[in-house]
Amino acid sequence: MPLIPEPLIDEIQLRIDLAEFIGRYVPLKRSGRHFKANCPFHKERTPSFMINSDKQIFHCFGCGVGGNIFSFLMLHDRVTFPEAVQQLAEHVGVPLPQRQRSSSESDHKALCALLEQACRFFERTLAASQGSAARTYAQNRGVSEPTRQRFRLGLAPEGWRRLLSAATKQGTTPAQLEAVGLLVRGASSAYDRFRNRLMFPIIDLRERVIGFGGRSLDAQEPKYLNSPETALYSKGRHLFGLTQAKDAIIREKTAVIVEGYFDCVVLADGGFSHVVSPLGTAFTVDQARLLKRYAERVILAFDADAAGEEATRRGIDVLVELGLQVHVAQLPPGMDPDEALRAHGRAWMEQLFREAINLCEFLIRSALRRYPSGAMEDRVQAAQWVLPTIAKVPDAMLRSEYLRLIAQRLRLDEQAVAQELMKVTSRLASAARSAQDRSTVASPSMSATVVHATTPVVATGPERLLIALVLDDPSRAQRLQRDLPVDEIADPMLRRILSVVYEETAAGRVATPAQLVSRLTEEGLGGAVTALVTLAQTVTAQERAFEECLQRVRAQTRTRELALLQDRIRTAQLAEDHATVHRLLVEYQQRFEQRPTAVKGDADG
Ligand SMILES: [Zn+2]
Repeated sequence: MPLIPEPLIDEIQLRIDLAEFIGRYVPLKRSGRHFKANCPFHKERTPSFMINSDKQIFHCFGCGVGGNIFSFLMLHDRVTFPEAVQQLAEHVGVPLPQRQRSSSESDHKALCALLEQACRFFERTLAASQGSAARTYAQNRGVSEPTRQRFRLGLAPEGWRRLLSAATKQGTTPAQLEAVGLLVRGASSAYDRFRNRLMFPIIDLRERVIGFGGRSLDAQEPKYLNSPETALYSKGRHLFGLTQAKDAIIREKTAVIVEGYFDCVVLADGGFSHVVSPLGTAFTVDQARLLKRYAERVILAFDADAAGEEATRRGIDVLVELGLQVHVAQLPPGMDPDEALRAHGRAWMEQLFREAINLCEFLIRSALRRYPSGAMEDRVQAAQWVLPTIAKVPDAMLRSEYLRLIAQRLRLDEQAVAQELMKVTSRLASAARSAQDRSTVASPSMSATVVHATTPVVATGPERLLIALVLDDPSRAQRLQRDLPVDEIADPMLRRILSVVYEETAAGRVATPAQLVSRLTEEGLGGAVTALVTLAQTVTAQERAFEECLQRVRAQTRTRELALLQDRIRTAQLAEDHATVHRLLVEYQQRFEQRPTAVKGDADG
């Protein structure tokens, strides 16, 4: 997508009144200067969806969604940010720059047409008489004809140049086929990449074929072969089956993730339409974001072997960070979901998904397999193994429920587990911070991605209110920028928001909350901005609160730095590195004396 200049985004926003726009979708009631409505994004009888006309933002107290006009359209029509901007630009007649999407866009079109042609060639081959063995194979594995057609399965025929010669006849050049990954250039000649394979086209959300996965029908290795990365296809950014599954996922609010194409297609055939598969990769953040457009909850149904367990754990980490609820369906050992469905039937499978365990229970069980003795040391180790993932759960209530579960199941003291969690959390936060520092040096635009991969976890009372007050009255930003470097904010989400505020201030602009939402929506932080503004509006003595929060945040930073230093001293002591211990102790002493004394004992906020 072309990058749309921010002034244009702001201009579009200025030309449409939010209340008027939302009023076309839901009936509004006036409430003072503002409006309220029954939230279009969750079921409710009494309105908790508020539109702030001054600030041109909305926020729902029921489900927590919030944003500006673009976010509303994104949520309502499930489009991306650039798509929402595009639509509204057309609506108000603001022309967007076209040239940026000229050449690459038309190239893409040509490549897509080529892949579509290839897909049809594979489909025809499978339907023809030479496809009869492959059809039987698919049938035996549980793929009926309608499902086969819906997923557009095909057959890459035997032989080295079948697709090549068919395509050449239609005027396609070998170079074009190579560009979409269908042709391999060998030492002396070029040949079809996919030969004697059952073909699964990878279809993007615009219903374009962008690549293929092929299951070997003879002894050819590898068993599953994927398209290489091309201009159109990047494996970590798509999910197999999502186009076909999306409506069912919206309906169920749940997506099931399985390992392979076959699992996905076979389950769809069995009536489980809300199933997708990553494309032969570890589950990525991009894939999780894609799912988050449609699902609130995800069930991971990977194989029960060690590799599957590892994949599950990695998947959990990625999904949890984006705030998706994660459950794990535990398959019988040695069985793929497609085998399980054939062996046990639909009702059994339904029950398996219904009884999927929560991520914490899953982690505890894996940890107990790793540290099985039941001795105190093992139980502590098990908890240590589980906690880094739990630290990433954004919902505080859920996190504390999980804590309770861990303490109970591992027979540990809940208080102690909670303390450990705090430690893990601050370790993760400082690791994320140094990762962010590194990436900021390398490329400023990277910082956004890094922050998104971490989670707001630290107790952030005063931080939260401080940022809220700045958002509510952006004129405070200048003052804050003088007194508080963005690094001193511990919560990665708040830090990211503040850094955008500072960028705007440094550029001599005063960003309204609605503009900030535009800047942050794609990182999933639009709702956070509106929630903060809403929070600020509950504060009466704003100026005093602002000063107090600032003092507290600075005091917390010092306390955190001292604690980190203490940790390092302890490590050096254990290593009997006396020189370092001495140096750190001196540093500790100095820092301790510099500590602001105005507000003490306020680490809890
Ligand atoms: Zn709502």
